[in-house]
Amino acid sequence: MNSIKVIVAGPRGKMGTEALRMIKNQSSLTLAACIDRKNDGMNIIDIDGLPDLDAPIYTDAFTCLNDVEADVLIDLTTPENGYKHTKLALEHGVRPVVGTTGFTAEQLQELTTKAAEKELGAVIAPNFAIGAVLMMQFSKWAAKHFPDVEIIEKHHDQKLDAPSGTALKTAELIKEVRQPHKQGHEEEKETIQGARGADEDGMRIHSMRLPGLVAHQEVIFGGLGETLTIKHDSIHRESFMSGVKLAAEKVMELDVLVYGLEHLLD
Ligand code: NAP
Repeated sequence: MNSIKVIVAGPRGKMGTEALRMIKNQSSLTLAACIDRKNDGMNIIDIDGLPDLDAPIYTDAFTCLNDVEADVLIDLTTPENGYKHTKLALEHGVRPVVGTTGFTAEQLQELTTKAAEKELGAVIAPNFAIGAVLMMQFSKWAAKHFPDVEIIEKHHDQKLDAPSGTALKTAELIKEVRQPHKQGHEEEKETIQGARGADEDGMRIHSMRLPGLVAHQEVIFGGLGETLTIKHDSIHRESFMSGVKLAAEKVMELDVLVYGLEHLLD
């Protein structure tokens, strides 16, 4: 198989830098270029702290996608820019692999339609860690037996979106098997607004942001006389990279947009 030519958007970010390290160690992927917010016209090799890779940097995504021959765009930026980059990539015949979280349901629908029109593969995954994907699947299974559930997600304090994409995806999977119903006391009242967390069909989602955290989630189910906790911790961002690599390879075989890494696992 020829090496897949990849553009990385957000190369100086925590996830982007980890993605460059992963690409440097893979023969199946080659870095073709990067889209950054600064350093236009420079090369990755010239940027302190980034892996030793020879690839031009563009600040304009349109110019990059026009000028560079690439198969895949890996986006690890911000919700607003990630959405723009994904749309532009599809318009240029480049398959997006998106780790950026915080897209709205409307944006996801629009990108799904665009990928289908173009018959182009795309992967958007709120969590690329294999353990997190299993945590979400186990939660869906447990929700069939325990319909009362609360999700607690914990992330570093630089995260822009809340709740996390993983918490939303978990809630979405649980909703496939759980009937909407209010949890807690019928007459409960919040004396401080937000104390009970976000309300998704009566299921509660709580978001914690602290320095020192990476990405963590607990899904807690309550039944008669028992609770069940399903917990996942990403303690280093390299936990996401086997999923990013898998998605960059598998997206080449797809002709639709896939939301969630679970669709790519056996
Ligand atoms: P980060 O460290 O803040 O990195 C984001 C990078 O994007 C920064 O370097 C930023 O540049 C850059 N950027 C902003 N606008 C840009 C643009 N228009 N063009 C190119 N680059 C641009 O954040 P992170 O922790 O790496 O996370 C990145 C995204 O991945 C977030 O949405 C996060 O939620 C998500 N994430 C996903 C997973 C997953 O498994 N799917 C796991 C962890 C995180 P400046 O520094 O100059 O602002």
